Amino acid sequence: MSAKNANLSGELKKYFGFSTFKGQQEEIIKNLLNGKDIFVLMPTGGGKSLCYQLPALISEGTAIVVSPLIALMKNQVDAVNGLSSESGVAHVLNSSLNKTQTKQVFDDIKSGRTKLLYVAPESLIKEDYLEFFKDVKISFFAIDEAHCISEWGHDFRPEYRNLKQIIDKIADVPVIALTATATPKVQDDIQKTLGMTNALVFKESFNRANLFYEVRPKVNIDKEIVKFINKNKGKSGIVYCLSRRKVEEFAQLLQVNGINALPYHAGLDQKVRVANQDKFLMEEADVIVATIAFGMGIDKPDVRFVIHYDFPKSLESYYQETGRAGRDGGEGYCLAFYDPKDIEKLEKFLAQKPVSEREIGLQLLNEVVGYAETSMSRRQYILYYFGESFDPVNGEGAKMCDNSSNPPKLKDSTEDLRKVLEL
Ligand code: ADP
Ligand code: MG
Repeated sequence: MSAKNANLSGELKKYFGFSTFKGQQEEIIKNLLNGKDIFVLMPTGGGKSLCYQLPALISEGTAIVVSPLIALMKNQVDAVNGLSSESGVAHVLNSSLNKTQTKQVFDDIKSGRTKLLYVAPESLIKEDYLEFFKDVKISFFAIDEAHCISEWGHDFRPEYRNLKQIIDKIADVPVIALTATATPKVQDDIQKTLGMTNALVFKESFNRANLFYEVRPKVNIDKEIVKFINKNKGKSGIVYCLSRRKVEEFAQLLQVNGINALPYHAGLDQKVRVANQDKFLMEEADVIVATIAFGMGIDKPDVRFVIHYDFPKSLESYYQETGRAGRDGGEGYCLAFYDPKDIEKLEKFLAQKPVSEREIGLQLLNEVVGYAETSMSRRQYILYYFGESFDPVNGEGAKMCDNSSNPPKLKDSTEDLRKVLEL
């Protein structure tokens, strides 16, 4: 049986043990198997990986999966290998492999047993790899975290820019691009850069109806946060701060106040960092105080609150960071503290950057300020930013923000909306 006519539900059950597809997974997979280019915009946790893992497992040849982080790739490869009784079904190819290991990967691909090959974009460019890939059967390309292509995204990686040329050199096969970033600008950038303007687009709603959004002025912030956490004793939460110094200071302040909190930032000793993360995941610590270095690829389903001590640099980052709350569908409280002076500091910081970066940064900051100062539904504001319309009265989760549950004062919100739409 060719993959095209596969009984997809049967294969889903066989490999993943799931009885039903989530959202549009089945449609996406069918179209990919039929040779279409696909663009998937789905929030984190939506089930994007399966959209390329399943078709890869049942197709002839190897699917090349481009992914930005070695740690994420390793997790995925281990997971996929756990799905199959055979060895070498999934591999990572990157600079950390020695000669023997690399040869093993190449041998497994040649033999046809490797269905998924995870690579970082910089590995794909290597000349000898390129020659090798040209000679083997590639089923399709998957570009995960595709927003890394765009300077408007929250995680721009220049190496992603050249993917299209490399792909074209290797094989004429379908491409599936996936991201949890859905601002119209990023979407447009991805499609243009990957030459996918004719791709089928599958976009799911970014509404996280179980999250409550609140913005408070940044006054008496330490006390306010301690009070909030004490009210939510025993629950898991994240507090994001901008600087490493602040992370350490504030984690200490929480500890002094009897809260079981630990710091996390990229400047901590590797051992301490991993230990703190593990303690948070294992529930030995209730609260993790962190820079934005914390969270990528971390899947703790029962995070109950995400507090921003400092306001984020973009609404996109805010959405991603708050998105770590309530992943199990239970309550998730997203509280951000806002002080216009903090924004001025960020602007000063941007002033030292090259012009193009500065302009993008300032525009993103404008949108963040708009969110902080709006009196309209915060959910509606965020979703507009993602190109999605939302009914602030009857939409799912409509009452779940400070402005909607307890409207401050009636004000014409058309001006706010216009600002968002002019992104
Ligand atoms: P994303 O990449 O979109 O953030 P993942 O691919 O990591 O999401 O999937 C999120 C979770 O959803 C994973 O735990 C995965 O096993 C689960 N999942 C994916 N598809 C299904 C399905 N059809 N049924 C049940 N669970 C699923
Ligand atoms: Mg993913």
